Amino acid sequence: MPSTTKIPVGILGATGTVGQRFVQLLEDHPWFEVAWLAASERSAGLAYQDAAKWKLTTSIPDRIAHMKVSAAAPDGAPRVIFAALDAALAQDLEPKFAAAGHVLITNSSAFRMHPDVPLIIPEINDDQLALIDRQEWRKSKGRGCIVTNSNCSIMGLAIALAPLAEQFGLEKVFAVTMQAISGAGYPGVASLDILGNVIPYIAKEEEKMEAEAKKLLGKMHNDQLQLADFAISAQCNRVAVEDGHTESVSIKLRKPASAEQIIAAWRGCKSNVAQLNLPSAPAQVIHYDERIDRPQPRLDIHRGKGMTTTIGRLRACSIFDWKFTVLSHNTVRGAAGAAILNAELLKVKGYLEA
Ligand code: NAP
Repeated sequence: MPSTTKIPVGILGATGTVGQRFVQLLEDHPWFEVAWLAASERSAGLAYQDAAKWKLTTSIPDRIAHMKVSAAAPDGAPRVIFAALDAALAQDLEPKFAAAGHVLITNSSAFRMHPDVPLIIPEINDDQLALIDRQEWRKSKGRGCIVTNSNCSIMGLAIALAPLAEQFGLEKVFAVTMQAISGAGYPGVASLDILGNVIPYIAKEEEKMEAEAKKLLGKMHNDQLQLADFAISAQCNRVAVEDGHTESVSIKLRKPASAEQIIAAWRGCKSNVAQLNLPSAPAQVIHYDERIDRPQPRLDIHRGKGMTTTIGRLRACSIFDWKFTVLSHNTVRGAAGAAILNAELLKVKGYLEA
């Protein structure tokens, strides 16, 4: 039975790759308790353990295993919903939930670039939450809203760039990604396509990275978001790694900075919301690793329970100023963990109250 002290939450797309991560990360969460699971018509009516092809190394929590999967509609769903649906579906379904008074915290790209929808990484841009009050759903009686987290490929990079943009200014960014197969969902990329191979194309990924970077690093002025002003070019590749997106990045700064100053900016990176002690916030936002061959996904992905961004290999770039490697866990920091952290921020700021 659900406890009465925790906030009941639902997961839309609960059987998928990100949905499963939500189930795992919300087990024993101090504030939230999963009370509703929804997926496609194929899964609706089944017990969760029969509907989900569970792929995580921890077991399905007992209480969840026997929970019945609901249809993906607002009726009977709790107010707070974590969503992990394909963008085309989300485009249609997410506004229905917001209009019905739900606080929809989503991983899909459908509304990330909407001018009234915050694209939040609490550590670097919590001020974007103010955009919620401009949403028509929020102004209506139900007081629903949509809050998004970024694409998994820009998440770690945005966190790495934020302290540099703040201290030295950013002029240009060039990033080449090596993205894990879990980023493609399940069943995702066919094994015959990816084993022993690199696929130099991920649909719409480069466009999302480039657009979202400017919103994530934008600044609020008079309740409006001004996009950050720097040039960014991304090249995205799928590689045969299970979890963790690794990126090779070159940057040009507006003010000169030494390697020591850049590393100090990363090591000194303080979360904007550190004082709130949010349960899913990593103790260390960024870890800079001095070792010559790090970060590596297999060895470094679980740092900070998957919520810490690991950076390494800072060195001079002969085309731009500096180059480095960044690693971020795509289904934790880049998806479910990020959304849960956003929900924790929304709770503390009073947005989960009706
Ligand atoms: P996925 O593994 O393919 O899971 C998709 C989920 O959507 C499943 O629960 C599926 O339910 C459900 N679904 C499919 N058709 C539906 C329908 N007609 N009505 C209701 N539910 C339906 O995908 P994923 O990787 O978890 O990604 C989900 C979203 O998160 C996508 O927008 C993706 O771009 C985004 N995202 C993913 C990652 C990542 O690392 N994977 C990171 C950041 C963001 P059934 O099992 O019943 O089919």
